[in-house]
Amino acid sequence: MNAKNLKEELIAYSKEIGIDKIGFTSADPFTELKNRLLTQQELGYQSGFEEPDIEKRVNPALLLEEPKSIISIALAYPSKMNERVESKKGERRGIFSRASWGLDYHHILRDKLKKLEEFILTKVPDARLKSMVDTGELSDRAVAERAGIGWSGKNCAIITPEFGSYVYIGEMIASIPFEPDTPIEDQCGTCTKCLDACPTGALVQGGQINAQSCISFLTQTKEIIPDEFREKIGNRIYGCDSCQTACPHNKGKNFHFHDEMEPDPEVAKPLLRPILKLSNREFKKQFGSLAGSWRGKKPIQRNAIIALAHFKDESAVSDLVDILENEVSPIAKGTAAWALGKIGGETAFAALKRAEEQETDQEVQREIKKGLSFYN
Ligand code: SF4
Ligand code: SF4
Repeated sequence: MNAKNLKEELIAYSKEIGIDKIGFTSADPFTELKNRLLTQQELGYQSGFEEPDIEKRVNPALLLEEPKSIISIALAYPSKMNERVESKKGERRGIFSRASWGLDYHHILRDKLKKLEEFILTKVPDARLKSMVDTGELSDRAVAERAGIGWSGKNCAIITPEFGSYVYIGEMIASIPFEPDTPIEDQCGTCTKCLDACPTGALVQGGQINAQSCISFLTQTKEIIPDEFREKIGNRIYGCDSCQTACPHNKGKNFHFHDEMEPDPEVAKPLLRPILKLSNREFKKQFGSLAGSWRGKKPIQRNAIIALAHFKDESAVSDLVDILENEVSPIAKGTAAWALGKIGGETAFAALKRAEEQETDQEVQREIKKGLSFYN
């Protein structure tokens, strides 16, 4: 089978199975990326979720023997909900970022890549193929950029001319020498809208992000959130879209091509207070199919506490007192102590004073003091 014909067949097949964009690039190492990653590492800007071996992230030959090309795929996701939640006065809601609406995109992309693999193997039975989605090995974005899917914006997202940056991307390394596509020219120009919109200044400069101060990363950690970011997190309980919604190339981009990606508004924009009381089983039932549940229940509960403090929701005080007095996790207790101080009122004050007497954990004690400091 000639690689040129197979590429054309593959492009046609990709459309049939609902892949919105496909691009091809060589399997050469990503040398420029290596320097960028080394700088990120030196500056301490990494999230810690990445593949620790930088060589693996830039050299496809370490992931598949004698690779000849890489196929990059993109699926467009919705940026607006078709259905709205019914807002009732006094009910506060959190928000999952768009990349966590609908079914976990890892499943959707893996399914498409598997179909592509099967198609290729019917034509080239001895082909060697390795598919990846967000594994942290190869950089999905570097591959997509070089394969002409989109350019890498100053907001660090891949921006496609067709769908903006609201795309999920994945890739497959192949032993077949597909002809590479041409990268798309950077169209950011002098724009700095994403940098200006970032609540925490995490976009250090165009195309460079300090994960340690990015809300998207912070909401996924399991530790206590540093003070300076708590108010800025607002009601985001997973992820952050601000540098994408600010981008002019995303204006009017809202595609509903894939049923699995349709968000249930009650799940993507959930009521905050019930989250505090979810059992593990209930959490799994409500949120388990979302990409945003990958770190489990605790980070989402901690973020919900921060969101309730952001809204100064007095109706949450009794639940927060319950967490402060009866929870095991010092992260939840400490965050609740801080939130009680933020919300204020006599009940919260009395609970903080009681906890100050009884609490033995130093981290929680620190947060109790912060909570009480709001009364000064
Ligand atoms: Fe800033 Fe949010 Fe973008 Fe992170 S995701 S860089 S916090 S705007
Ligand atoms: Fe580029 Fe402007 Fe979009 Fe940022 S907001 S990614 S600078 S076009």
